[in-house]
Amino acid sequence: MQHIQVLDQVTIDKIAAGEVIERPASIVKELVENAIDAGATHVTIEIEEGGISLIRITDDGSGIMKEDIRNAFLRHSTSKIRNVEDLLHITSLGFRGEALSSIAAVTKVEVITKTKEAILGTRYVIEGGQELSLDEAGSSDGTTFIIRQLFYNVPARRKFLKTAMTEAGHVQDLLIRLALSHPEVAFRFLNNNQEKLRTSGSGKLKDVIYNIYGRDVASNLLELDYRQGGIHITGYLGKPLITRGNRNFETFFVNGRYVKSTMISRAVEDAYKDFMMQHKFPFVVLHFQVDTETVDVNVHPTKMELRFQNQQEVYKTVFEAIHRQLLEPELIPQVEVPE
Ligand code: ADP
Ligand code: MG
Repeated sequence: MQHIQVLDQVTIDKIAAGEVIERPASIVKELVENAIDAGATHVTIEIEEGGISLIRITDDGSGIMKEDIRNAFLRHSTSKIRNVEDLLHITSLGFRGEALSSIAAVTKVEVITKTKEAILGTRYVIEGGQELSLDEAGSSDGTTFIIRQLFYNVPARRKFLKTAMTEAGHVQDLLIRLALSHPEVAFRFLNNNQEKLRTSGSGKLKDVIYNIYGRDVASNLLELDYRQGGIHITGYLGKPLITRGNRNFETFFVNGRYVKSTMISRAVEDAYKDFMMQHKFPFVVLHFQVDTETVDVNVHPTKMELRFQNQQEVYKTVFEAIHRQLLEPELIPQVEVPE
């Protein structure tokens, strides 16, 4: 038997990073969410080789003060909560304080950042969890993260990355969801210097849907605004004539956070059932505002799966909201009645 040892911090961070960082899209998610939490109105995302060799994210948010930079990269360091009570009232996308330490553990990171108040910016370089430099540097207001060589020091994980094209696809899917959840932010996404996505930041969800899915979808939408109990649902329902072949066009956000929920999907599909052919799926983008105390977002580090306190009630509310809207006379399928 070997003696029991406490692992060193670099090893702990590398292991923990596996929970949060699975692929380039995970890094993009964490960094873009940080930019949004920092109040950015413009976020540009550039990737090369699907994000495996390079991810560059530039925002015009608050920036990070020089004296905070090192702390930002420590595990469990966050400016967003102070104690466990704060978990009940989370309004930011991040709160675990794990992303930067995890990213830095398995990549080569360069950050250039400047707050409005500072005269000079800061450049910080950290690779595999080891700080290489912290200097003053010229910078505009905001933050740029440059992430190179994902998993360069964890060959076992690098092996599980897919082709550049597949990884770029994951990044793009993720950015679509982030753009849909934040119409007030102007996003620009470039893959190998080619622009793949651009939103205006107008604040209107319909504009984002147009930017992403085109005129055909954008001109066949019903607006939804429904309030029941503690739930407020807003967004757009595709008219039944624009059916889709799979579930990828059912997009849900709860308090601004993208979530997967089989329960919500079921409620949506059940509501559309009478208006749609079998084996077809609706186009919906729905935002749920619910009391932060009625959902548990703290289920998994990637925070995608969420649990409502009262699943049954939410199902009913979603079903009713949509079914009601689809009952508008012009949408009811016209049945030819023989003379
Ligand atoms: P969390 O988002 O859970 O707080 P992170 O590890 O993602 O943890 O980030 C740590 C801290 O670094 C954040 O709480 C925030 O204060 C700061 N930070 C990270 N990214 C940015 C950014 N783009 N702009 C301003 N501050 C940032
Ligand atoms: Mg974060």
